Amino acid sequence: MTVSIVIPLYNEEENVEPLYERLHEVLDTFSSGYEIIFVDDGSTDKTLAILESFQKKNEHVIVLSLRRNFGQTAAFAAGFDFARGDVVVTMDGDLQNDPKDIPRLIEKLKDFDLVSGWRKHRQDTFFTRRLPSIIANWLISKVTGVNLHDYGCSLKAYKRDVVKNLRLYGEMHRFIPAMASWYGVKIAEIETTHHPRLRGKSKYGISRTIKVILDLITVKFLQSFSTKPIQFFGPVGVLFALGGLGISFYLTIEKLFWGAMLAGRPLLLLGVLLIIVGVQFIGMGLLGEMIVRVYHESQKKPIYAR
Ligand code: UDP
Ligand code: MG
Repeated sequence: MTVSIVIPLYNEEENVEPLYERLHEVLDTFSSGYEIIFVDDGSTDKTLAILESFQKKNEHVIVLSLRRNFGQTAAFAAGFDFARGDVVVTMDGDLQNDPKDIPRLIEKLKDFDLVSGWRKHRQDTFFTRRLPSIIANWLISKVTGVNLHDYGCSLKAYKRDVVKNLRLYGEMHRFIPAMASWYGVKIAEIETTHHPRLRGKSKYGISRTIKVILDLITVKFLQSFSTKPIQFFGPVGVLFALGGLGISFYLTIEKLFWGAMLAGRPLLLLGVLLIIVGVQFIGMGLLGEMIVRVYHESQKKPIYAR
């Protein structure tokens, strides 16, 4: 069994040397082959230069370099594309994750397809990092139905098939377990060590919470309705349109039989608005159905096959 370690790095010049050393200590004990894929995510400091010096002296090291800072998700995706191992392990490059946990993750992977780290004793500040994370993890678990304590932990191990079938974009790497579970991937979580960040700066602030919640809405929508958009948009559309038609019908009766004046009546506006919005919703559903159909016809194999 061969292992690929994928590590995204953005301006981590002070961390790469110790990271490399610690990885070495662990990976030297590996009898089977391994590769370390460092993905430089458009760093503007010496990160890339240092990484390239490792590549020169160690054939196990591969350096991928993104042209600009694309974000952690894109960096993972680049690493996954390249990875040749039977097992793919991801971790942060700032030494907050500990390479010593890698063998335990891989061991657990014998019975699962994805093993996710859980930073049970997380070494970050409470109000800006840990509290938002507790709430986010609870929310993500509830909404996606995939119960993990720690969606945000980068330290994860995957069987090759899982990463090769993922299509990552935006900031979706946090939702990999949720998305993978739709395809029947078996997921486990184990406690892993977490260290405080000693060098360099965190790349995220509190604004991440809002982005994560928006992404969660997207993920939930994709999970529930991506193969049947008309069932999401349709009922709302029909409800609105029927409401609008009902109001218009009532106003027509008033006008015809009681000679009521319709100009200047807010109800008339509401009726028209509901009909238009309702028709729009149904149209969106139909458009969605067409996109789904075109997509499925373009696929050679069903998307749930391995
Ligand atoms: N990272 C990256 N691109 C980015 C932001 C972060 O490759 O745009 C890397 C970063 O260098 C680190 C990992 O992703 O190796 C996690 O980032 P960070 O430590 O800032 O996140 P935190 O631990 O604070 O959540
Ligand atoms: Mg960190």
